Amino acid sequence: MAVGAHSRVLRPRSVEEIAACFRAAREQGLCLGLRGTGNSYGDASVNRQGWVLDLSRMNRILSWDRVTGVAVLEPGVTVQQLWKHILPDGWWPAVVSGTAFPTVAGALAMNIHGKNNYKVGPIGDHCLEFDLVLPSGEVVTASRERNGDLFHAAIGGFGMLGAFSRVVLRTKHVHSGEMRVQALRSRDLAEMMRQIEELKARADYLVGWVDAFPGGERAGRGLVHAAFHLKPGDDPAPERTLQVGYQELPGSILGFPKSEVWRILRLFNNDAGMRFVNAAKYLAGCAEAAQNPYLQSHAAFAFLLDYVPNYKFAFGTEPGRRGLIQFQSFVPHAAAHDVYLELLQRSRDARLVPYLAVLKRHRLDPFWMTHAVDGWSLALDFKVTPDNRAALWAHCDALTEVVIAAGGRFYFAKDLVIGPDDARRCFPPENLARFLALKKRVDPELLLQTDLFRRIFGALVDAPATGTLAARPA
Ligand SMILES: Cc1cc2nc3c(=O)[nH]c(=O)nc-3n(C[C@H](O)[C@H](O)[C@H](O)COP(=O)(O)OP(=O)(O)OC[C@H]3O[C@@H](n4cnc5c(N)ncnc54)[C@H](O)[C@@H]3O)c2cc1C
Repeated sequence: MAVGAHSRVLRPRSVEEIAACFRAAREQGLCLGLRGTGNSYGDASVNRQGWVLDLSRMNRILSWDRVTGVAVLEPGVTVQQLWKHILPDGWWPAVVSGTAFPTVAGALAMNIHGKNNYKVGPIGDHCLEFDLVLPSGEVVTASRERNGDLFHAAIGGFGMLGAFSRVVLRTKHVHSGEMRVQALRSRDLAEMMRQIEELKARADYLVGWVDAFPGGERAGRGLVHAAFHLKPGDDPAPERTLQVGYQELPGSILGFPKSEVWRILRLFNNDAGMRFVNAAKYLAGCAEAAQNPYLQSHAAFAFLLDYVPNYKFAFGTEPGRRGLIQFQSFVPHAAAHDVYLELLQRSRDARLVPYLAVLKRHRLDPFWMTHAVDGWSLALDFKVTPDNRAALWAHCDALTEVVIAAGGRFYFAKDLVIGPDDARRCFPPENLARFLALKKRVDPELLLQTDLFRRIFGALVDAPATGTLAARPA
């Protein structure tokens, strides 16, 4: 929303059409950016200097094994399509993001994490195999055993090595359509982190919500939500709770049709309004935490942000001028508490307080361009206006320095700020070098590009500023 561009969009329906699109772009001397449903916050699937290949129409579930829980999917199948298909059989996607609208290919290209990252890793850890259409048009199958380098580079490779055309995912067996959810009140950030650390061994999902407004002793106050799967026999009627209809989010909120709620949120979308909303949420959460654990459906727990369709419109409806950016940093465990208090303090000092702040626990994974650390992430949603834009970017640059100095990293699905020097400093040099070498090998002409690629890696690979191909084929 804070960034956008007009491009010609191609929508292939088969592997042959993907290869034909690659050929057509090459013949025109243009680059292509891959796109799922465009749910990345920044410029990851924007290509202002070429065409966009939108794979969302290749969205068939090719096979589903209700005994093993393995799904074979076209790239444009969404997380929502997947869970609705498999839940009645007692399965749930192993990893989901806070919204159900991303495609599996977009999710794999970013290697998304869920509220269970500390326990099960990112989606890549649950991918058994994929087919990738390389810029040459060749289709390569990769898994841990076969073409392992490509497997570990393309997952999390932000669509720069080829287009996923088939994805094989392992899903997770569940015994109920509900989970047991426990809320805890955290008086400050240290308490929140301690609560999450203590629950980590038992809880299946953990997430912290932080009220970013108060400082002093209340800095980092908020709520933790922990969710636990039910064991066999805990749910007296699983055949009912596993039905898709049981999971559906309510059609209205406090009597307002869901589709219109963003208009009400917009009234509060200023510092005073959001200070009030955050304080009210904290107080309501304290009451919730005083109660016993309660049951909540998987969809309601996982896709909280889908409760309010188009909630981002509350930040403004002029793409490229107004909107929000998310600054999500990943910081090693030992440094995270102090770093996050500093990010919050600096934001208050700069009068650029994030309206939403979410804390998660993470673990390492084996993917080359991984954003994960054995530590934490804090996602800060900042409002962007024409007036605050320059100051906000300067503020995020300053926060970036704090994060990188502490050994932290950034996540391409959420980033709109970092540049080549930051990337050089926050990715392990050997991973960056072998990723860029592989990019050069499979895509010597730089056919696959996005605004994100040019912003962060353009200077590292000599991408032409115009975004046209590096070299026309003979
Ligand atoms: C409200 C909200 C909540 C979110 N919560 C989370 C969260 O909890 N955890 C998390 O990790 N992320 C989260 N995200 C981010 C989101 O999950 C990722 O950005 C995801 O990649 C979006 O998928 P998409 O299909 O929309 O892909 P797009 O945003 O369209 O593209 C993402 C990347 O995938 C590439 N790509 C697309 N299709 C293909 C293909 N066929 N082959 C190769 N590359 C391809 C694109 O080039 C781009 O680099 C959230 C986003 C929103 C809007």
